Amino acid sequence: MTSIDISPGKSGYRFYNWSKTYSAAPELYFEPRSDKELRNILSGAKENKKTVKIVGGGLSPSDIACTNDFMISLKYLNRVLDVDAKRCTVTVEAGVTINELNENILPSHGLSLINLGSVSGQTVGGIIGTGTHGSGEKFGSFATHVLELVLMKADGTILRCSQQENAEILSAACCHLGILGIILSVKLQCEAAFMLHEKKASSKLETVLIDLNEHVSSAQHFQFVWFPHTDNVVTIARNRTRRTVLVKNNWLKDIFIGHHLLEFCLWIATFFPSIVPLITSVFFKFCYKGSSECINRSDKIFNIDCLFKQYVTEWAIPRKHTAIVLREMKNWIENNPDCKIHFPVEVRFVQKDNIMMAPSCEQDVTYIGIISYRPYGKLVPHDKWFTFFEDLALKYGGRPHWAKDHKVNSQTFQQIYPNFNKFMKLRSELDPDNLFLNEYWKRILK
Ligand SMILES: Cc1cc2nc3c(=O)[nH]c(=O)nc-3n(C[C@H](O)[C@H](O)[C@H](O)COP(=O)(O)OP(=O)(O)OC[C@H]3O[C@@H](n4cnc5c(N)ncnc54)[C@H](O)[C@@H]3O)c2cc1C
Repeated sequence: MTSIDISPGKSGYRFYNWSKTYSAAPELYFEPRSDKELRNILSGAKENKKTVKIVGGGLSPSDIACTNDFMISLKYLNRVLDVDAKRCTVTVEAGVTINELNENILPSHGLSLINLGSVSGQTVGGIIGTGTHGSGEKFGSFATHVLELVLMKADGTILRCSQQENAEILSAACCHLGILGIILSVKLQCEAAFMLHEKKASSKLETVLIDLNEHVSSAQHFQFVWFPHTDNVVTIARNRTRRTVLVKNNWLKDIFIGHHLLEFCLWIATFFPSIVPLITSVFFKFCYKGSSECINRSDKIFNIDCLFKQYVTEWAIPRKHTAIVLREMKNWIENNPDCKIHFPVEVRFVQKDNIMMAPSCEQDVTYIGIISYRPYGKLVPHDKWFTFFEDLALKYGGRPHWAKDHKVNSQTFQQIYPNFNKFMKLRSELDPDNLFLNEYWKRILK
């Protein structure tokens, strides 16, 4: 029986990730309000031979945040510790969400986050856990804007990490994968608040691929989505602007795409899969064809409506292989008429960095993401398509997004990450008793 008081832990808590593709039943669930309480939970876990998982926003589409042992939410460790408006930096506890930063913290200081992905429900500790990225050839992953962070090791001691102090651990912790310790606080480089001008235009896949480099350089934040079973794509170009008003969106999109009609159509398609290409074409024609533009606060343009629950996998491919990978995906779909693929395939561009385990470490990459919706929670078979894509991405030197579904094991990770062994050595020094290893990691490391 334990001598450490772990009584604040609740039993009976059930965790589901955002897409409800994974769940967990932690034996005890904690919401500590101080470092002291956190330390106590770590000691209690060690004494009871339990593992520990911090959960952030629970957005990761894989089981990387799951545990049936002790789960800790940092929702009450969410204070703003410092804002330096002149240097455009903010220091916050790791439980702060990106939404809180966007809505309540940064605007009052005239600041914005420099680049974002599709959503802002992540916590600061979670978003730097898995290499989260947006798009833009001159922009790295989100964690490239981390200046300093504070980490609690498994033994409860605290490490300050910056370029001057524990620089190697900083490089590891900027894509910490949930296994180095507990991120307590992070200092982020921001920029003066800005508006983004977004232009969307429909085009053809080959048109974009032939002049890919020009397209990617044509805007600060360029990305495109491809509609499988068709040649159609929509390019999305976003630039900072001093203008403040222009709201001109495709109204049909708002009416039709707002979850419901698409979800219903894809649910019908679970009985008649052959209609998926027709649904794709019709939605493209009515909701995406043509062009549209709008101006809004940066985060409101970066973030999009991710519609409804889905399985997703996303891979970072060396930039030079983008066209060949997409062409092979298109050929495969044409040669496998039994597989009906959901739109969109999302294509984004990220600059190389030197974060040890970031998929963009030491290579400019193109992230290609594929999805399989779950209309009304129903499973749509997608294994054959996901397996093909995973093998293809690996063939071209791709690395999986850590937060999303993948079947890669440590042997392959050693081949695709020059720093994998170094990171794992650091991990075992910081956490010699494997307190932070969950099933996701045991599967990879077995
Ligand atoms: C709808 C949707 C859209 C998305 N869009 C994008 C996108 O555009 N680009 C992209 O790259 N990704 C995207 N993602 C993935 C998402 O950004 C990542 O999964 C991110 O890591 C989630 O952050 P979180 O706070 O929810 O962390 P969780 O999912 O809760 O946890 C992620 C990992 O971090 C660990 N962790 C969390 N906080 C701490 C802490 N303080 N200390 C130590 N470990 C911690 C957890 O244990 C876990 O291992 C999207 C996901 C969804 C569901």
